[in-house]
Amino acid sequence: MNTHTIQFASATTWPPVSDVDPIVGGRVELQLLTTLKCNLKCSYCSLGVGEVLGTQTELKYDIDQLTAFVDKHLRDKEVYVTFYGGEPTLNRAMMENVMRRFPEFRFQLQTNGTLLDSLPDWMLHRLSNILVSIDGGEQTTDGYRGRGVWRQVLKNVAHVGDRLGGSFTARVTWGHPDTGFEELDDLAESFDYL
Ligand code: SF4
Repeated sequence: MNTHTIQFASATTWPPVSDVDPIVGGRVELQLLTTLKCNLKCSYCSLGVGEVLGTQTELKYDIDQLTAFVDKHLRDKEVYVTFYGGEPTLNRAMMENVMRRFPEFRFQLQTNGTLLDSLPDWMLHRLSNILVSIDGGEQTTDGYRGRGVWRQVLKNVAHVGDRLGGSFTARVTWGHPDTGFEELDDLAESFDYL
C-alpha cells in the first residue's frame, strides 16, 4: 500500500491579504441607473418582460450615498459616467445633480433619443457622447419602437447636434433579417459612430 505525505500550505500565506484598493487601474466607468420609466414600449424591451412589468418606478438615488462611494473608492480615478434607464432623460434632475456635483467627471448618455430636445444647452455641452438606440431604417425602427419614432429621433439628433460637446453614436440592435447595410450606411450620415 502506498502512503503519501499531505502537504499543507504555509500558514504565512493564508488568509490572503485583501487589496487595499479593490478597483484596479486608474479609469472607471460608472453606470448609473436613473429611472426604470420609459416613454416608449419597444416590443423587445426587457423592462416589459414577465414580472418586471408594472414594477417600473422612479429610483430614489441618494446623491450623498453616491458621493460617499466616490470619496471612498474613486478618489484619484478618472471617472466616466454613463446614464442609463429606462429613459434617463425622464429623470433629468438626477442627471443634473450628478453632473453638478462631480464637474471633473466625463459623461455619456444612453437614450432612446425621443426627448433629447428637452435637455438644456449646458447639459448637452457637457456630454462627451450620446448613445442613441435605433434599429436601422424607418420601417424597422418604427416596427419595434412605435410609429414616428425614427423621424423624431433623427429630427432631435439634427436639432441638438451643434450644442453637443461630444459625439453621437447610433447603438443598433441588428435583429431584423431584412435590415440591410444601406440602412446602416444611411445612419452614418446622421451619427458620428455606429
Ligand atoms: S427605449 Fe429602451 S427602455 Fe424604453 S421601451 Fe425601448 S428598449 Fe425599453
